[in-house]
Amino acid sequence: MAKISGWAALEAGKPLVPHEYDPGPLGAEEVEVAVEHCGVCHSDLSVINNEWGFSRYPVVPGHEAVGRVVAVGTNARGAKVGTRVGVGWTAESCMHCRLCLSGDQHMCARAVPTIIGHHGGFADRVRAHWAWTVPLPDSLDITSAGPLLCGGITVFNPLARFGVKPTHRVGVVGIGGLGHMGVKFAAAWGCEVTAFTSSASKADEAKAFGAHHVVSSRDSKALRALAGKIDFLLVTVNVALDWKAMIATLAPKGRMHVVGAVLEPIPVAAFDLIAAERSISGSPTGAPVDIRTMLEFAARHGIAPQVEHFPMAKVNEAIAHLAAGKARFRIVLDA
Ligand code: NAP
Ligand code: ZN
Repeated sequence: MAKISGWAALEAGKPLVPHEYDPGPLGAEEVEVAVEHCGVCHSDLSVINNEWGFSRYPVVPGHEAVGRVVAVGTNARGAKVGTRVGVGWTAESCMHCRLCLSGDQHMCARAVPTIIGHHGGFADRVRAHWAWTVPLPDSLDITSAGPLLCGGITVFNPLARFGVKPTHRVGVVGIGGLGHMGVKFAAAWGCEVTAFTSSASKADEAKAFGAHHVVSSRDSKALRALAGKIDFLLVTVNVALDWKAMIATLAPKGRMHVVGAVLEPIPVAAFDLIAAERSISGSPTGAPVDIRTMLEFAARHGIAPQVEHFPMAKVNEAIAHLAAGKARFRIVLDA
């Protein structure tokens, strides 16, 4: 197989440099995709900088890739050369453990993340298991679809899997890459949506995405004024907030659901949960079937991430833009 050219971090915190690698023979169940566009997720930044402690260098980031299938392994089911597919956070899973057999492949203990111990989509080509190369509905705009593959499924799946109803009042905390898609999905789900943001300048955009209300995520007084109001609070930030006030916004039977990689422990008082049957939970991305469902939902409701484009060759500028908190709202690299 021809070498793959991409961009890699050779050590933590260093700018990405051009990087060529030999992918070896294509695995029997693998699919190779020529990358056309790839979103930049905050998790790319965290892995480049080894913030979670399990990065493996060289890191070729990129796990919101879309492109055309260019090679198909001998046992790769359903994949056809020329088809448009997406590759998200997971590149493969064992496909025979209990979780994989139950449709929970994203929780497989042997799942391989696309950018850890595997080379991702900031490259001309990327490989993944056939089940994890998900066909894209024709009506999705290819130039903005990439971010649905990680950020999109991560905020869609909690709505689908944790019983959120159209009559529910949903809060989305952090209106970044994940959060702005969370607002769009929750609004299309039929919910009353409150956007919690630390950026006053995002208020109008949050409303355009479908938020009915916008509240400061850093104003404890404003949070306390919402006590008991929110049925499902989706946390997409990766920083500490006034968690006591956040949990207090939950209605009876309400749930605070964390998808942002908050590294500091989140304190919770047992009585804040007990008296009103509140809960706190978290979830990782989604299984291939969830991704297909999410893409169909996005296509049906005309939901597209709001993106800023950078050429792949300007990847370091793109990463600096995201790190500075300036992305409006997801960056996509164009091959
Ligand atoms: P992002 O685009 O950088 O958005 C994060 C948002 O958090 C920012 O836009 C900002 O929103 C808010 N924020 C940042 N600093 C803040 C501060 N000091 N105080 C208050 N709010 C602050 O990141 P992303 O790509 O959406 O990812 C968000 C998190 O989800 C990351 O930790 C990422 O690793 C994680 N993630 C998890 C999964 C999963 O499977 N669970 C999947 C993908 C990503 P405002 O400007 O609105 O305040
Ligand atoms: Zn991601």
